[in-house]
Amino acid sequence: MKPATLPVLLAFLAAGVAMARPEGPVEQAATAQEVGDQILDGIGETALIARYPFNGNGEDSSRNQLHAALNGPGGVFVEDGPRKVLLLTGDGSYAQVPASAVSGEDALSVVGWLYLPTRASGPIFDFGPSVATRLFATVDAKGFRAAAVVDGLVRGETEAKPMIENQWAHFAVVFDPATRSLTTYVDGARAGQATNLTATLAQLAPRGEGAAASRLFLGRTQDDGVPTLHGRLRDVRLYRVVLGDEAVATIRRNALAAAQPARVRPTPPEISTADIPKESALAASLASVPDITVETLVGSLPRLPVTIPATWAGGSAGDVRVIWPSPIDTADVRKPGTYTVTGRVPGTSFSPKATVIVKVRVGTFTAPDRLVEAFPLNRVVLDRDLQGRDTPFIRNRDKFVRGLAASNPDSFLYNFRETFGETQPQGATALEGWDNQTTRLRGHASGHYMSALAQAYASTGYDPALQATFLKKMNYMVDTLHAMARKSGQPSAAGGPSVSDPTAVPIGPGRKSYDSNLRAGAIRTDYWNWGTGFISAYPPDQFIMLERGATYGAQDSQIWAPYYTLHKILSGLLDGYEVAGNKKALEIARGMGAWVNARLSALPPETRAFMWSRYIAGEYGGMNEAMARLFRLTGERRFLETAKLFDNTGVFFGGATRAGGLAKGVDTIRGKHANQHIPQITGALETFRNTKEMPYYDIASNFWDIVNAGYMYSIGGVAGAKTPNNAECFPAEPGTLWENGLSAGGQNETCATYNLLKLDRQLFMYDQTAKYMDHYERALYNHILASVAEEDAGNTYHVPLNPGARKQFGNAAMNGFTCCNGTALESQTKLQDTIYFHSADNRALYVNLFIPSTLTWVDRNVTVQQVTDFPYADTTKLFIAGGGAFDVKVRVPAWATRGFFVKINGKEQVVKAKPGTYLTLSRTWRDKDMIELRMPFSFRLDAIVDQPNVASLLYGPVLLAAEETTVRTDFRKVAFDAKDPGKSITGDPATLRFSAGGASFKPFYESYGRHSVYLHVALK
Ligand SMILES: [Zn+2]
Repeated sequence: MKPATLPVLLAFLAAGVAMARPEGPVEQAATAQEVGDQILDGIGETALIARYPFNGNGEDSSRNQLHAALNGPGGVFVEDGPRKVLLLTGDGSYAQVPASAVSGEDALSVVGWLYLPTRASGPIFDFGPSVATRLFATVDAKGFRAAAVVDGLVRGETEAKPMIENQWAHFAVVFDPATRSLTTYVDGARAGQATNLTATLAQLAPRGEGAAASRLFLGRTQDDGVPTLHGRLRDVRLYRVVLGDEAVATIRRNALAAAQPARVRPTPPEISTADIPKESALAASLASVPDITVETLVGSLPRLPVTIPATWAGGSAGDVRVIWPSPIDTADVRKPGTYTVTGRVPGTSFSPKATVIVKVRVGTFTAPDRLVEAFPLNRVVLDRDLQGRDTPFIRNRDKFVRGLAASNPDSFLYNFRETFGETQPQGATALEGWDNQTTRLRGHASGHYMSALAQAYASTGYDPALQATFLKKMNYMVDTLHAMARKSGQPSAAGGPSVSDPTAVPIGPGRKSYDSNLRAGAIRTDYWNWGTGFISAYPPDQFIMLERGATYGAQDSQIWAPYYTLHKILSGLLDGYEVAGNKKALEIARGMGAWVNARLSALPPETRAFMWSRYIAGEYGGMNEAMARLFRLTGERRFLETAKLFDNTGVFFGGATRAGGLAKGVDTIRGKHANQHIPQITGALETFRNTKEMPYYDIASNFWDIVNAGYMYSIGGVAGAKTPNNAECFPAEPGTLWENGLSAGGQNETCATYNLLKLDRQLFMYDQTAKYMDHYERALYNHILASVAEEDAGNTYHVPLNPGARKQFGNAAMNGFTCCNGTALESQTKLQDTIYFHSADNRALYVNLFIPSTLTWVDRNVTVQQVTDFPYADTTKLFIAGGGAFDVKVRVPAWATRGFFVKINGKEQVVKAKPGTYLTLSRTWRDKDMIELRMPFSFRLDAIVDQPNVASLLYGPVLLAAEETTVRTDFRKVAFDAKDPGKSITGDPATLRFSAGGASFKPFYESYGRHSVYLHVALK
């Protein structure tokens, strides 16, 4: 409490107003509901912008940590029943939310609790750049109302609803651009509504600096002359989604209920699907779908095909998609024998049967070898296209290279230095976002940053000055971290106390328990107690709390994801060593690897299984991968053992008995957080690489099949579940993207796709099946390339595919990172890494992608230059310098159904090129040989897995998005020719701009406005 507030407060208390006990229902849920629950009231946390309990401070208890500042002369937190609340006394005091909170959003819901003393009134919230342009809610003599004003004109205003004084009232204001409505609620019931709202959040909460930026006030208005609020506030929440009647009522009811809170779906933006038929337009012309027979080994579920060849009317053949049942265990395959399962062809009444023959393995089995390797990053350089233009790949790379070159490593070291009690160098500023002071994920961006510096160093051989810049920054990062890591567990002064044993880290000085308090001035900095080798941007407490059962949340007794953050840091260090040759980086990783080994190996297996099964808290990124990699780089076996200590037993093996799980083909990812698990899978594959233990390989390859068959959107990304209601989770059941996916809160977390790409390429090293690279190409062009802003390095978190949605780009200045912003630093500095591979014996070159580039194949003294305008042309040329006898294996994309034509030195070759395979060109190549590949593009509709009438339009590898001008409440309906969609489309393949059904289409990776990626497809 500031001294100046005291007289005001005393006067207030004397009036006998503030101490009045709330009447009506007393809030019971001050404890359970206070936590940063990821599905609070049934609404996934990705929908929540910020939450201010005001229980003693202005902290945001959501993961975004957008803390509110308490400004003005008064404003205090007072006891109110079992908790504290914010008391404003109309003396000019108010709370202010960071300006960035609302900018870039389309929809907004503000809910909270308000207590008005007798005849009190005032503004509840007021968001906007000025008095003339703002969104606000207020209580005055007429009652509670909300309004939107733009340029001095009222663009929507609700009628006023009287609010009862001297008791807590629940309020909500819902700004819905899709239905153009502004709705108010009091105590869970609608209080007023303005329809024909003619304002957008972009007007009310513009991005920008200074005068243009919004000021987000609670308890005051933009107008300095209007008195501030006189009343109490608690649990004020900002959502980026539209909350419907049911959601608002439930939030209120849950706050009043002592028992298990109810859960609801946030309603709208209500997207109408009523006019989309369930039956496929092609159902009538499907003549027959054959039954099939598959084999499997005892104990493992069969791999059932995603599509099977069917017969159509008139006798023509063509594949249909089949959704098969997905058992939750291996009961069917415990013994040799035969059983039958029945699938369904979505949108039809066909239900093909699969006879499964369960066999015992005969003969010996050899684990697959790693037959293919990638080229070092510095051996492949992105080139301009045939016409001398920068490609989209070069443009994106350069946005990030520029940002990284301008970055200050001291910002990325800020939290580490604070943790180790060091002073900050001149000019060092802290990062925002998930690296801010109190965010328990701080340090994650520093790990990505080191990986990016290493990759940028390797990738910019075309500019030695840039390379020197990156090397210098990276070495500075590593040197600084190295010095800190060496201090851990050592006395701060000769003869001083210390604890070198990682398993003996004591509770922080002056504390009662381990906690995650990172507030400035309160964070523990007793590094001498932390055990040898410890390095992180926070003290060891979160790791220890995880072992002791801590859950994810924003309280000091809760954690975020300590091992996730550590994985980024260790990967950054290992990249620094492997890609850029920094030996100190390896030393730090080895020290921290030993620290991790010491702690985890001291735990019983059940404790670890419980840790890794915990939502988010147990998210460990690819710690298993980092540890297996550390073994590979050091030869120290304890690190390989450490990798296995990260086995997520339930997901991997179906539990301690190891009779199920992904290793046996059981889908254990239903409803699970996508990006919590994808890196665990690449980690399993890295464990296989070093152990040759087959279950780890099966985990990865089964996971790939399960995800691609049942959970994949057309841009190559995943997640975005309505059930469970979480934009970051897989839908509750496979093959139900339409039913349970496309959540209002978004889909396609960008870092998840980055990790899927990593899995594609790593599986391909063992199994040169084109399907892995087909997905790679799809997701590279249509998600990764599509995830970066037009003019700068801003990039996406989720990429929403709901009708009329748009991408939101963040972190252009590289100063406030989410997981995806951090991952983007890596994605965009290694865009060349999968264009070519070579066989491990150097007898074959794999051409996976058709991107202008130059490869230097050192082992063969060969250079290959790929010259093309692809995908603005369907032809690419490979110029070979040097020569020798080797195979060139070129990918024949699955979409290349109109032929794949090869010329060598201008001469047409007779080849049998099947879409979705690799074509081998064997010969003794001579200097200046030229291979020309032509693969005519065609249009095709790619239906969402369980609704054949909702599909994306693709042209060759490129997903075409329909341009939209507003948020939509339905799926855009476009009619296409049933036999050949291309007959309904006009446009220019050289620019990839097309028209169909009155809509304009362009590549999704060139779409920066509103879009429709999924269309309601009518066939004619
Ligand atoms: Zn992410």
